Amino acid sequence: MGNIFCFKFDKDNGAECLKDALSLSNISTAKFINVLCLSGGRLAKTESQKRMMVFLAEKNQNFCGIGTVGFNIVNMPWDRENFDEDKAFMLDVIRCAKDKLGWETLDFQPNEEIVFEALNVFEKLIHRMNKDEIRDNRLQEWLSEAKENDPVYCGFPKCRIHDTYLSLFGCQVCTD
Ligand SMILES: [Zn+2]
Repeated sequence: MGNIFCFKFDKDNGAECLKDALSLSNISTAKFINVLCLSGGRLAKTESQKRMMVFLAEKNQNFCGIGTVGFNIVNMPWDRENFDEDKAFMLDVIRCAKDKLGWETLDFQPNEEIVFEALNVFEKLIHRMNKDEIRDNRLQEWLSEAKENDPVYCGFPKCRIHDTYLSLFGCQVCTD
Protein backbone atom coordinates (compact mmCIF):
# COMPACT_ATOMS: atom_id res chain seq x y z
CA MET A 1 0.00 0.00 0.00
CA GLY A 2 1.02 3.62 -0.35
CA ASN A 3 -0.16 6.86 -1.89
CA ILE A 4 -0.20 7.93 -5.52
CA PHE A 5 0.00 11.53 -6.68
CA CYS A 6 -1.07 11.73 -10.29
CA PHE A 7 -1.57 14.62 -12.70
CA LYS A 8 -5.07 13.63 -13.78
CA PHE A 9 -6.31 10.11 -13.36
CA ASP A 10 -8.61 8.69 -15.98
CA LYS A 11 -9.54 5.08 -15.34
CA ASP A 12 -9.97 4.22 -19.04
CA ASN A 13 -6.38 5.18 -19.51
CA GLY A 14 -5.00 4.23 -16.10
CA ALA A 15 -1.59 2.83 -17.03
CA GLU A 16 -0.78 5.88 -19.15
CA CYS A 17 -1.88 8.28 -16.37
CA LEU A 18 0.28 6.52 -13.82
CA LYS A 19 3.45 6.59 -15.91
CA ASP A 20 4.70 9.88 -14.52
CA ALA A 21 2.85 9.67 -11.20
CA LEU A 22 4.54 9.93 -7.83
CA SER A 23 4.14 6.74 -5.85
CA LEU A 24 5.22 6.81 -2.20
CA SER A 25 5.13 4.51 0.78
CA ASN A 26 2.93 5.67 3.63
CA ILE A 27 5.86 6.80 5.74
CA SER A 28 7.53 8.63 2.87
CA THR A 29 4.23 10.33 2.09
CA ALA A 30 4.07 11.77 5.61
CA LYS A 31 7.62 13.13 5.31
CA PHE A 32 6.99 14.49 1.79
CA ILE A 33 3.89 16.40 2.98
CA ASN A 34 5.78 17.50 6.15
CA VAL A 35 8.48 19.29 4.15
CA LEU A 36 5.95 20.92 1.79
CA CYS A 37 4.00 22.22 4.82
CA LEU A 38 7.18 23.59 6.41
CA SER A 39 8.24 25.38 3.24
CA GLY A 40 4.80 26.72 2.29
CA GLY A 41 4.13 27.85 5.85
CA ARG A 42 6.97 30.32 5.41
CA LEU A 43 6.20 31.34 1.81
CA ALA A 44 2.42 31.67 1.46
CA LYS A 45 1.29 35.29 1.27
CA THR A 46 -2.14 35.37 -0.33
CA GLU A 47 -5.38 33.68 0.59
CA SER A 48 -5.25 31.28 -2.37
CA GLN A 49 -1.68 30.28 -1.46
CA LYS A 50 -2.67 29.68 2.16
CA ARG A 51 -5.60 27.57 0.91
CA MET A 52 -3.16 25.40 -1.03
CA MET A 53 -1.21 24.82 2.16
CA VAL A 54 -4.36 23.90 4.10
CA PHE A 55 -5.24 21.46 1.31
CA LEU A 56 -1.82 19.82 1.72
CA ALA A 57 -2.10 19.82 5.53
CA GLU A 58 -5.38 17.90 5.17
CA LYS A 59 -3.39 15.03 3.64
CA ASN A 60 -2.88 13.61 7.10
CA GLN A 61 -2.92 9.83 7.29
CA ASN A 62 -3.48 9.84 11.03
CA PHE A 63 -6.95 11.25 10.44
CA CYS A 64 -7.79 10.30 6.85
CA GLY A 65 -6.43 6.76 6.99
CA ILE A 66 -3.13 5.23 6.00
CA GLY A 67 -2.63 5.14 2.25
CA THR A 68 -5.62 7.35 1.43
CA VAL A 69 -4.09 10.78 0.91
CA GLY A 70 -2.84 10.66 -2.69
CA PHE A 71 -4.46 13.21 -4.99
CA ASN A 72 -4.59 14.44 -8.56
CA ILE A 73 -2.89 17.75 -9.32
CA VAL A 74 -5.96 18.95 -11.22
CA ASN A 75 -8.04 18.42 -8.05
CA MET A 76 -6.04 20.84 -5.96
CA PRO A 77 -8.05 24.01 -5.14
CA TRP A 78 -6.60 26.08 -8.00
CA ASP A 79 -8.03 29.56 -8.28
CA ARG A 80 -8.31 30.72 -11.89
CA GLU A 81 -7.90 34.38 -10.84
CA ASN A 82 -4.42 33.85 -9.42
CA PHE A 83 -3.33 30.78 -11.32
CA ASP A 84 0.04 31.98 -12.66
CA GLU A 85 1.11 33.38 -9.31
CA ASP A 86 -0.07 30.32 -7.42
CA LYS A 87 1.63 27.88 -9.76
CA ALA A 88 4.89 29.85 -9.33
CA PHE A 89 4.27 29.76 -5.58
CA MET A 90 3.89 25.96 -5.57
CA LEU A 91 7.13 25.60 -7.55
CA ASP A 92 8.83 27.87 -5.00
CA VAL A 93 7.47 25.76 -2.15
CA ILE A 94 9.01 22.68 -3.76
CA ARG A 95 12.33 24.40 -4.47
CA CYS A 96 12.62 25.75 -0.92
CA ALA A 97 11.66 22.36 0.52
CA LYS A 98 14.76 21.07 -1.29
CA ASP A 99 16.70 23.86 0.47
CA LYS A 100 15.31 22.40 3.73
CA LEU A 101 13.31 25.50 4.60
CA GLY A 102 11.98 25.07 8.14
CA TRP A 103 13.72 21.74 8.72
CA GLU A 104 15.45 23.17 11.80
CA THR A 105 12.09 22.84 13.61
CA LEU A 106 11.99 19.07 13.06
CA ASP A 107 13.04 16.60 15.73
CA PHE A 108 13.96 14.07 13.03
CA GLN A 109 15.94 14.16 9.80
CA PRO A 110 13.89 13.22 6.73
CA ASN A 111 15.52 10.70 4.40
CA GLU A 112 16.84 13.20 1.86
CA GLU A 113 17.24 10.75 -0.98
CA ILE A 114 13.60 9.69 -0.86
CA VAL A 115 12.13 13.12 -0.08
CA PHE A 116 14.14 14.97 -2.75
CA GLU A 117 13.28 12.40 -5.40
CA ALA A 118 9.60 12.76 -4.45
CA LEU A 119 9.89 16.55 -4.68
CA ASN A 120 11.47 16.25 -8.15
CA VAL A 121 8.60 14.14 -9.46
CA PHE A 122 6.01 16.40 -7.81
CA GLU A 123 7.69 19.43 -9.39
CA LYS A 124 7.23 17.91 -12.86
CA LEU A 125 3.55 17.27 -12.13
CA ILE A 126 3.00 20.86 -10.97
CA HIS A 127 4.85 22.12 -14.07
CA ARG A 128 2.28 20.33 -16.23
CA MET A 129 -0.62 22.19 -14.63
CA ASN A 130 -2.10 24.94 -16.78
CA LYS A 131 -5.19 27.11 -16.84
CA ASP A 132 -7.06 24.83 -19.24
CA GLU A 133 -6.93 22.04 -16.68
CA ILE A 134 -8.59 24.04 -13.90
CA ARG A 135 -11.96 22.60 -12.92
CA ASP A 136 -14.10 25.60 -12.17
CA ASN A 137 -16.23 23.95 -9.51
CA ARG A 138 -13.31 22.31 -7.70
CA LEU A 139 -12.34 25.25 -5.48
CA GLN A 140 -15.99 25.88 -4.56
CA GLU A 141 -16.54 22.19 -3.81
CA TRP A 142 -13.52 22.06 -1.56
CA LEU A 143 -14.55 25.23 0.29
CA SER A 144 -18.12 24.03 0.67
CA GLU A 145 -16.86 20.87 2.41
CA ALA A 146 -15.18 23.04 5.07
CA LYS A 147 -17.15 23.67 8.24
CA GLU A 148 -17.36 27.20 9.64
CA ASN A 149 -14.61 26.49 12.18
CA ASP A 150 -12.26 25.30 9.43
CA PRO A 151 -8.91 27.16 9.23
CA VAL A 152 -9.84 28.45 5.75
CA TYR A 153 -12.62 30.49 7.41
CA CYS A 154 -10.76 31.40 10.60
CA GLY A 155 -7.82 33.47 9.45
CA PHE A 156 -5.47 30.57 8.63
CA PRO A 157 -3.98 29.76 12.06
CA LYS A 158 -0.45 28.33 12.18
CA CYS A 159 1.46 25.83 14.30
CA ARG A 160 3.59 27.61 16.89
CA ILE A 161 6.28 24.96 16.69
CA HIS A 162 6.50 24.43 12.93
CA ASP A 163 5.09 27.69 11.48
CA THR A 164 2.89 25.57 9.19
CA TYR A 165 -0.71 26.25 8.25
CA LEU A 166 -3.18 24.08 10.13
CA SER A 167 -5.99 22.04 8.64
CA LEU A 168 -9.03 20.93 10.59
CA PHE A 169 -6.78 18.06 11.74
CA GLY A 170 -4.24 20.47 13.24
CA CYS A 171 -0.60 20.62 12.21
CA GLN A 172 0.32 17.88 9.74
CA VAL A 173 3.94 17.95 10.93
CA CYS A 174 2.98 17.52 14.62
CA THR A 175 0.54 14.71 13.94
CA ASP A 176 1.69 12.72 10.87
ZN1 LIG B 1 3.39 21.53 14.25
